[in-house]
Parts: sequence; C-alpha cells; structure tokens
Amino acid sequence: MEIIHVSAECYPYAKAGGLGDVVGALPKYQNHLGHIAKVVMPMYRTKFLYDNEWELVHQGGQQFGLNWFHYSVIKEKSNKLGFDLFLVDINGLLDREKIYGYDDDAERFTAFQIAVCDWINHWQNKPDVIHCHDHHTGLIPFMMQYCFAFENLRNVSPVFTVHNAQYQGWLDWSHYHFVPTYDGWRWGLLEWDKKINPLASAIKCSKKVTTVSSSYLEELKVSANGLEKLFEYEQGKCVGILNGIDNDVWNPSTDEFIPENFDASTVTDGKLASKKELCNRFQLDVEKPLIVFIGRLVGEKAADILPEAIRSSIFEYNGNVNFLVLGSGEPEVESELNWLKLQFPGYVNIFIGYSEPLSHLMYAGADFLLMPSRVEPCGLNQMYALRYGTVPMVRSTGGLLDTVIDFGDWQGFGIRFNNATPEDVKHAVGRAIDLFYNKKNLLFWMREFMMNIDHSWDTSAKQYIELYEEL
Ligand code: ADP
Repeated sequence: MEIIHVSAECYPYAKAGGLGDVVGALPKYQNHLGHIAKVVMPMYRTKFLYDNEWELVHQGGQQFGLNWFHYSVIKEKSNKLGFDLFLVDINGLLDREKIYGYDDDAERFTAFQIAVCDWINHWQNKPDVIHCHDHHTGLIPFMMQYCFAFENLRNVSPVFTVHNAQYQGWLDWSHYHFVPTYDGWRWGLLEWDKKINPLASAIKCSKKVTTVSSSYLEELKVSANGLEKLFEYEQGKCVGILNGIDNDVWNPSTDEFIPENFDASTVTDGKLASKKELCNRFQLDVEKPLIVFIGRLVGEKAADILPEAIRSSIFEYNGNVNFLVLGSGEPEVESELNWLKLQFPGYVNIFIGYSEPLSHLMYAGADFLLMPSRVEPCGLNQMYALRYGTVPMVRSTGGLLDTVIDFGDWQGFGIRFNNATPEDVKHAVGRAIDLFYNKKNLLFWMREFMMNIDHSWDTSAKQYIELYEEL
C-alpha cells in the first residue's frame, strides 16, 4: 500500500511539538511493515534543509485566487530518515525560517495544499491513501473530491488525523477564492459556523478520521472549540489511535545528548550522571528531587499555574525540592517564571526557548516530569519520561489518562491528579517528595517497570494500516 503523509511538521526537518514527532516516526514504522509511506511538507529554511542534499522532482503551477503561483518539489537524496521526504517550495510564501506565526499563514498553507494536490494529480500511479495531519492540511480532502482541477484524485482515500482541535485554521468567506474552483453545491462542506473551517472540512470530507488517543475522542464530543456537534455526528468514521514514540530517537541506551547511556538495569547510575550535569548547569541540588516541565508555555498545558504551584510547593515543603522548566510561549508566563528564578536561586531554574538536546538531558536526569495540562490530546512527553525512568506527574486528561496509572493503584508507576490548579499540583509534589525521600525501593521498582513499558510505534502503525485497509 502507498501512503502519502501531508503535514506542516516532521522531525528532524521541522518540529514545533508532538505533530513533528509523529510525522517523523509513523511513516518509518509503516515502511518497516512493508508498505510505502512518504512525507510531503512545505519547504522552510531549517538547518536540516541546508545540511542535506536534495534533488528536483517536479515543477508546476496553479491558480491561486486572482494570481498564479509556481512551485517546485524537491526530495531528500539519502533516504536516511527511513522514508522519502518531499518539500514543496513556493517562492516568497513557504521558504521562511519559522514554521508558523506569520500573518499570511492561511494563505501559505492553502497554497501549499493546492500545490500538493496538483503534483499528486499528475502522478501516473496514484497512492492508495493521502493521510493529512491537522488543520494546515485540512482542505486537501475537500479539494481531492470536489475541485475540478484535481479529478484524478477522486479514487484516492483521504484520511485525517486530529492532533489538536483547538486550532482550526479558520478563514473568512472573503477568502473563498483561495480554494480552486469546485462544485458550488458543496460549499457547505467547507464551512462551520459561518467561516471556512479547514479542520471541520477535513472531518466532513475524509473517509476516516483519527484522534491521537481514545480518551481525546470522547473529550472532543463535549469540548472541541466549537466542533463538539460535528464530532458527535461523525463519530461513525472516527477512531482513537494512541501515538507511539520513536524508540530509535528516544533511547537512553544510545542517546547522544546524555553523558552516560543506561538501560533498566543501570538506570540509577545512568540517571544520576544526567542529573549531575543538569544540576551543575542550572545551579540545582543533586540531593533533592528534581521536577521538570518541558513544553509550550500556554493555557492548554496549564503553564499559567506553574509559577504559583512552584512557589507554594517550595514554601510548603521547606525547599526540599527543585524545579527546572524548559519552554517558551505566553510572555506573561515567561516573565513570571523568570521572576521566580530570581526569587528562588538554587531551587528553581528556567530555560526560555527551544532545545532538543536539553529536552533529552531533562527526560534522562529528572526524577519527575510534571504535566498539569488542561488539554492533552495524546501527550508524548509522559511517554518519553517513562522510557527514561522518570516518574510522570500528570493531570487525568486525554492521552495522559490512557498512558499513566497512579502508583497508588495496581501496578501503577505515576502520579495523577484531577485539577489544573496550584493546590492539586502542590499535593502531587508532596507525594513525589515522599516517594523520593521515604519510599526509595518503590521508586527504584517504578523506574525499572516504566522503562520496560512498550510505547513504540509498532502497535499503532499496524492499527493505521488496518484502518486504511478498511477503505
Ligand atoms: P504538543 O501539544 O506541544 O504537541 P506533545 O506532548 O504532543 O505536545 O509533544 C511535545 C514535543 O515537543 C515533545 O517532543 C517535547 O519534548 C517537545 N518540546 C516541547 N517544547 C520544547 C522545548 N521548549 N524544547 C525542546 N523540545 C520541546
């Protein structure tokens, strides 16, 4: 079977969050299963682009509103990623340094989707499935079926994965001309709540829709940023498939970003080496439990409660705990965290920014990983933490609910709490401190147990193939 993944992110070429991890791993595992999976992305000016060799595979052009654009498609030459990676270049629109965050993002990603459809429309042998990820690719299922220019794609099955329904790519109807000419009777398939809504359109027009965990699918029927009724109505074609993790990239026994590699049998010494490096670098105390947070500093991740939760925990537990935060996001949260670092040197440190190497070192060196998320469709951080023997402290929501069992329950290995509030986090911190100082044997057992849990893509990649086969 031939599957084309279309996405705005793909690790290691361009990643802003979990979407990049998924699209960088799933195709590789699908290829391992004997299928042909490829990835198509916009061309951004990332380091990976300049560090690798590319060949030109196609050039074309399409109407875009009143204008015409030219595009070219290049392919990574070495195939070292485990799948073919194609980049679509549209001069002036896609070749920028950041992935998102430009005023003309809607225009950029719509032009990208048109170019992708136009290119595949020219293929002699069509793929079996075009698998689109999140709203940046949400207009493709509609275009494949109803735009006159792409009628060679009518027999290809569109599949769509919702990684995050908070962002939907809304477009005002005044931009209707962005979408190439289509069967006018079908305009309703583009719309939700009086706007062109790419996420809603993808849910309506795809043959199958997946969400990145089963719990998230249930949550979307009651809370989906306005799309609850649509998820309810379309539930027959929706299915939750839990994300996996790429065991080659996230492997403490081969990880190049940590000072000493380790496995379940050497976890105590291995983690200590990473913890020492972290504590040296961030002036923390290696004897104290180290709780870390890694992620976008936004409301979804409940980053706004971190400053108060950290402050009150330090007071409540007499400073017997250290915190380290890696992330960037809302300016108020960033400045509150920076202020906290000045108030509590030796107890708290913050790295504002994005650093893949530091994230690996933190998963390895931390004792606990905190995720108080309000919304967590799947969450990969907790799975990385498990792989590195770090106890996840999570709010019971979405994918966190599906992957973490509280240590108070049978064969539990994590800490769970119910509310995204400083009080609940403080209580969870108290339990972590108790584990660290008073229940060492249990903590050591938990580390070994967690490291042996298999969250690799093997199972989920098969589930996707079975889903395509139903089509
Ligand atoms: P999201 O909702 O942001 O996609 P996920 O848990 O699905 O959340 O995935 C987050 C991914 O992004 C993980 O690989 C995590 O390590 C990474 N990540 C998030 N913020 C940072 C950062 N500031 N530096 C390095 N990696 C980060």
